[in-house]
Amino acid sequence: MSIHRPFQLSCSCGREYKVKLWDSINVTENKELKAKLLSGEVNQVQCPQCKKKSYIEKNLLYHDSDKKLWFHMLPQTDRPKWAELEEEYRKDLKDNDHIKKYHFRLVFGREELLEKIRIFDVNLNDRLIEIIKLKIINEDESLKTLTDLKLFFSRHMPEDEEMHFSLSSTEKGLNQTLVVASHHYEDLKEAKATEPISSGMYVSIHKTRVLH
Ligand SMILES: [Zn+2]
Repeated sequence: MSIHRPFQLSCSCGREYKVKLWDSINVTENKELKAKLLSGEVNQVQCPQCKKKSYIEKNLLYHDSDKKLWFHMLPQTDRPKWAELEEEYRKDLKDNDHIKKYHFRLVFGREELLEKIRIFDVNLNDRLIEIIKLKIINEDESLKTLTDLKLFFSRHMPEDEEMHFSLSSTEKGLNQTLVVASHHYEDLKEAKATEPISSGMYVSIHKTRVLH
């Protein structure tokens, strides 16, 4: 079920206004909400007076009952607490039998959520994708020292046997697409590769890298 609630906001222009913000979206029941999420319109608001648009980053549950996806998005400011939060969610889920077949993930911020959706929508394993990212960073000395590096899976091109990642850093003025041969993914799958970053509910290289 998709759930939204009323919130009172105050704009920098002085106007106070009421909006409805989503707490939870079920994209199997509400396909149009998934399209809105992908285009950045979920929890985006507009002041009726000065027309300023803002995105309100708050907890959001992404539920896909076809693909069995259960993603909890939390604000990016909560990322440093990922270990405690993971523990809390694990306890909550332990006794919930009917959702045991699900993929549970914790994500921080919209970029991490959208990346998980892109990965699961093409039936890839996000744990292996994070290991590929770790390898990308470890093989490039100039990336290792970047404190604001953003590295996200963007798409899989099976016909070209390629995976595309977007790499950006404001500090270094970087904004590029990185192409990785799909066989790296297949090799990791074959080897049943695991890394600390690829375990648990928060599957992300950001576990070990502090983003600013
Ligand atoms: Zn305003």
